[in-house]
Amino acid sequence: MKVELQNLTKIFPSRNKKSGEEVVAVNNFTFTIPDGKLVGLLGPSGCGKSTTLYMISGLQKPTSGKIFFGDEDVTELTPENRGIGLVFQNYALYPHMTVKQNILFPLQNLKGKDRMTKDEMLNRALEAAKLVQIDDLMDRKPSELSGGQQQRVAIARALVKMPRVLLLDEPLSNLDARLRLQTREEIRRIQKETGITTIFVTHDQEEAMSISDVIVVMKLGVVQQVGKPQEIYDDPHNLFVAKFLGTPPINVFTGRVENEKLYIGNDAVLDVKGVEDKDVYVSIRPEGFSLDEKGPFICELSNVEIMGRDVSVVSKNEASLNPVIRSIINADNKVDMTSATVRYTLKPHKVFLFDKKTEERIYFEVK
Ligand code: ADP
Ligand code: MG
Repeated sequence: MKVELQNLTKIFPSRNKKSGEEVVAVNNFTFTIPDGKLVGLLGPSGCGKSTTLYMISGLQKPTSGKIFFGDEDVTELTPENRGIGLVFQNYALYPHMTVKQNILFPLQNLKGKDRMTKDEMLNRALEAAKLVQIDDLMDRKPSELSGGQQQRVAIARALVKMPRVLLLDEPLSNLDARLRLQTREEIRRIQKETGITTIFVTHDQEEAMSISDVIVVMKLGVVQQVGKPQEIYDDPHNLFVAKFLGTPPINVFTGRVENEKLYIGNDAVLDVKGVEDKDVYVSIRPEGFSLDEKGPFICELSNVEIMGRDVSVVSKNEASLNPVIRSIINADNKVDMTSATVRYTLKPHKVFLFDKKTEERIYFEVK
């Protein structure tokens, strides 16, 4: 089911009538989620991800804008009539019910033509449980399950009505690191198996990158960039997006362009053909540095962290906006730890320039 958001806006009135300002939680969000895809809604806390999801679910009404499922305008429909499955961060299972009863619950309230016989309901519940691999736990209570198992029950409960759209709001946040990894692979598998159009909300860029067909990056209620995970990583359109994606984080410097050369401090670090003279932010991915005894970019060497296949060289530079610079270098390249400095050549396609004022990308010709 294709989901279309048209100029979706949500404004919350101020809580404090006298002094408070209203909050524009989601600002003019227009986007089409293709049928059968998994879209990751990514951004820092408070950027409007949940509000967007709740508007799609019908739990919150947009201040303005429209929502379509396929060709159907669902903007005025109640959540029950939209055919959605919703999973929250905190599982929200009924503690006094067994797993089976929890999964059956959404089916028992169906009315009219949707009503099902007891056997039909049991079959459906078992199918959903099998899909998330908890069919051997049907008679347990939620308190007798691990966090990961509880979240699977919540997902089964969301799937049991065979929703047109599956909405997941930070579903892995309460799980420990290993379970998070495992459960996110599970979610991906289930999504592919069922082909249900899915919207996955997270503040964790790595999670979004690994699971999504398409990522939507948000900041303060405004969409910043939409694209495939790799595309956004390789071609961030503004400084915020560049900084939000990638671990270790991208290295940011103040710099300037003079005569089509990029300067960081006094070092002319790169040719940037086609850029006029101006002050810029320079962002360099950790993998964008090559060790080079004669390299033009000179940094103060602090430390080398062993990571196995690679090493992370930690260095400093006065123009760096991050406390330290991290470069990722293949472990075969030896770093001379007796030296006070480390010299780099930069890989042009891993270097991004941004306007100092607008923080928008400035492109240069890469030879
Ligand atoms: P996210 O899920 O990305 O963390 P939210 O969608 O929950 O962000 O919130 C977006 C903004 O809207 C925040 O500034 C938040 O404080 C505000 N907000 C969310 N819900 C309400 C509400 N019911 N009343 C007033 N402000 C709200
Ligand atoms: Mg949220």
